Amino acid sequence: MRRAALYILAGIMFFFFRSIPVHAEEPVIVVLDPGHGGENLGAEYEQYTEKNMTMTVAESMKEELEKYEGVTVYLTRNEDKDMTLEERVDFAKSVNADFLFCLHFNMSEKHDLFGAEVWVSAFDNEYKKGYTFASVEMDMLKGIGLYSRGIKTRLNDEGEDYYGILRHATANDLPSALIEHCHLDQANDKEFYTSEEKLRQFGVLDATAVAKYYGLKSETLGVDYSDYQNVEIAVPTSAVKPDDTEPDICIIDVKDVNEENGDVSVSVSAQDYDSYMLYYSYSFDGGMTFSDLQRWKEGEDTIRFTMNVPSGTLPEVVVRAYNGFDKFTESNHIHLSSLVYGEPTEEAVEASNMTKGNVIEQGSSDTSIEASEGQKNHQSKKEQKEENQITIIYFLQVTLICIAILFVLLVFAMILSSSRSKKKRGRRK
Ligand SMILES: [Zn+2]
Repeated sequence: MRRAALYILAGIMFFFFRSIPVHAEEPVIVVLDPGHGGENLGAEYEQYTEKNMTMTVAESMKEELEKYEGVTVYLTRNEDKDMTLEERVDFAKSVNADFLFCLHFNMSEKHDLFGAEVWVSAFDNEYKKGYTFASVEMDMLKGIGLYSRGIKTRLNDEGEDYYGILRHATANDLPSALIEHCHLDQANDKEFYTSEEKLRQFGVLDATAVAKYYGLKSETLGVDYSDYQNVEIAVPTSAVKPDDTEPDICIIDVKDVNEENGDVSVSVSAQDYDSYMLYYSYSFDGGMTFSDLQRWKEGEDTIRFTMNVPSGTLPEVVVRAYNGFDKFTESNHIHLSSLVYGEPTEEAVEASNMTKGNVIEQGSSDTSIEASEGQKNHQSKKEQKEENQITIIYFLQVTLICIAILFVLLVFAMILSSSRSKKKRGRRK
């Protein structure tokens, strides 16, 4: 009898709990922070102003995110106004936010950097959550063709988070991430932000990253991310420090020189034991000038590239390899012999004469010996040709003299014979 009562009780409990949905959590509350505002313009480049761009992205992100179920979205500012970083975090706390997403665009001092990066707090659960979201976001930014500068932490002199908004958020146990979508001052990123439509696409991308991170569903969009697998990150026991040292290795080797078109193939081996390689730049004038930054091949220790050296150059090749924190190490220098190819320009010929002069002075190059031997051959051929011409002229002269002598003899013979026949006739008369 007691057992039967237990079965009935278990049955009632089963039906009761089954009617409660598994994901019956409170809706996720997210706060989007359009960076800067009011007097604080943020980055300014050509006709682009960061505070307006971040607002366009935030509005589009909110609109897209609200198409999902189980999410409540707020903006820290709905108008163009000044707000301190503390005020932004305080607002997020006041609405009981689960996450603060800070939207930004970047610029660099030398206008040389390009790509997207996400900054996260270096501490505790805020690092874990920040990094986990940033992994989704970065995958999507890479998916549209942006170059990943990485997911990073940065500390100030006191060893706290460098970025104020991350620092305040972490102090309030609020997970956050600061998205620098791309650089406004570099050609590589130009295609991503130049119209309102493109900025709105960033908003949709950011919203989708949030939806994936939280495993949201949208009937309107017909998508379900409830099975989305986030990366597994442990809560760090101490601050996750950024890399403040240069790459450990940078060695180059010249693999091939095409003397027809000046293409020089170079291999670069570079490594950073603390972080990862990000860019490289090259020089063929011994480091006086360098190329624009080039993408490093992700995950590779050795890459190979081809650079074109202009005709008339005496190349001295050197490469700089940059890590994910924009610190570089310069390689060994490699000297090559002078390159002259194609239609020679005046400058190229002059340069080549100068460099040839140098080589001959040094007297150490096989090519200079070959060249002088070649010149000798060339000279003797010319002499032979001249000799042949002289022989022909001599032969013609001798022939002409012979013809002239014969002609004179013939005339003399004719005169002689005619005077004899006159004498004979005169005797007959
Ligand atoms: Zn900014």
